[in-house]
Amino acid sequence: MKVLKFGGTSVGSPERMKSVSALVTDGTAQIVVLSAMSGTTNSLVEISDYYYKGNNDAAANVILKLEQKYHEVIMELLKTEAARKKAEAIVGNEFAIIRSFATHKKFDLACEKSILARGEIISTNLVQLYHEETGVKSVLLNALEFMRVDADGEPILSEIEERITKVLAQYKDTELFITQGFICMNPADEIDNLKRGGSDYSASLIGAAINAEAVEIWTDIDGIHNNDPRIVSGTKPIAELSFDEAAELAYFGAKILHPATVLPAKVKNIPVLLKNTMEPKAVGTVISNKITNKGIKAVAAKDGLTVIRIKSGRMLLAYGFLRRVFEVFEKYKTSIDMIATSEVAVSLTIDKDDYVAQIAEELKHLGTVEVEKNQTIVCIVGNMINEKQGYAADVLNALRELPVRMISFGGSRHNISIVVESSYKNQALIALHEHLFV
Ligand code: ADP
Ligand code: ASP
Ligand code: MG
Repeated sequence: MKVLKFGGTSVGSPERMKSVSALVTDGTAQIVVLSAMSGTTNSLVEISDYYYKGNNDAAANVILKLEQKYHEVIMELLKTEAARKKAEAIVGNEFAIIRSFATHKKFDLACEKSILARGEIISTNLVQLYHEETGVKSVLLNALEFMRVDADGEPILSEIEERITKVLAQYKDTELFITQGFICMNPADEIDNLKRGGSDYSASLIGAAINAEAVEIWTDIDGIHNNDPRIVSGTKPIAELSFDEAAELAYFGAKILHPATVLPAKVKNIPVLLKNTMEPKAVGTVISNKITNKGIKAVAAKDGLTVIRIKSGRMLLAYGFLRRVFEVFEKYKTSIDMIATSEVAVSLTIDKDDYVAQIAEELKHLGTVEVEKNQTIVCIVGNMINEKQGYAADVLNALRELPVRMISFGGSRHNISIVVESSYKNQALIALHEHLFV
């Protein structure tokens, strides 16, 4: 069985939903994971923001507009009165839930997560109703019955495996399943999610849970490109990547994949394919353990980083210093992306700055602390074998006109990372592209 995930644009209109339906009804067994229609999750975030501020009127306006859009989608997607009526009832119920939060005593994160789940619930129901109307045999699975995260929001694969196996056992003769990406339940028994862009992660978790033969991520571009196509012109799709290369690219900013997508697939050695819904015949990208060609393959960038530098005379020859630094980050559950050390100072980057003030305060016991926000990691990814010279030189040469703030090379042979102030990001991506790929 395969797992196929279709992103927001791929289900972004009735016409696109019909194309998805045509793509998944080739007779092979599959679980189809759907995102919300594009724009919906953003609107749900906007509605939640208004609820947080107690601005119920503004929330009601956005809700009305969004609901109107779904009326139109239903009219265009479904032809029979019976199917339209069913769809109106389902969508109406979801919007009633969204509206019910206007009268809540305190609008909190759990309320927001419940609202954010509505997009995927609606899109999957609409595609299922379209199948019912057109005579396609498929079963709609409720992802909330099997997708589970722990108290830290980390998926629990063993539990997902156990639950989905039980659910699927009820439908022995079914070949086609539809389910929601993004959404899950947490240990407090509340609706939760796998963070923005999380449907990719849902697909690879489900793939790993059922030992799928492949996970296919269908989106609006023909695979992973060798640079960010939103910033750099002339980028090209990469035919093959190893799990490690793809993981680095996803983690360090290539928006096409949720950062954690590759991990469950890697653990179970399941190939991940990136495909273009608008151009299904295009080759796309295959991510697998068959590491093939060598050299630098792609560049990506991750924004919103904070650099923390700790300067200390005591670091000189002192063992245990870095442990004490790391303990502070561990205490605040803040992971470090990149690190550079010298004899008298250490610089670190973090992407979650919720506790940056507390972390800086505690680090002051170890030395003087400087904090710089608005930093970007630019990550150069490939298979940089040890024997060949010049990878680092090529990268630094490309960036010679730019103020590079930190460099990391040698952690793995798949990655060279550099930090620049975010205002230099575009320049860095373009310069690297011209030097490395043109
Ligand atoms: P979906 O809604 O299908 O999940 P996303 O918008 O999350 O799609 O991801 C696809 C988009 O990612 C592309 O349209 C492209 O603009 C952007 N993107 C950023 N970096 C890359 C890259 N290296 N290769 C391909 N696409 C990229
Ligand atoms: N709908 C969610 C989002 O927009 C999840 C996803 O599309 O992957 O973030
Ligand atoms: Mg996405």
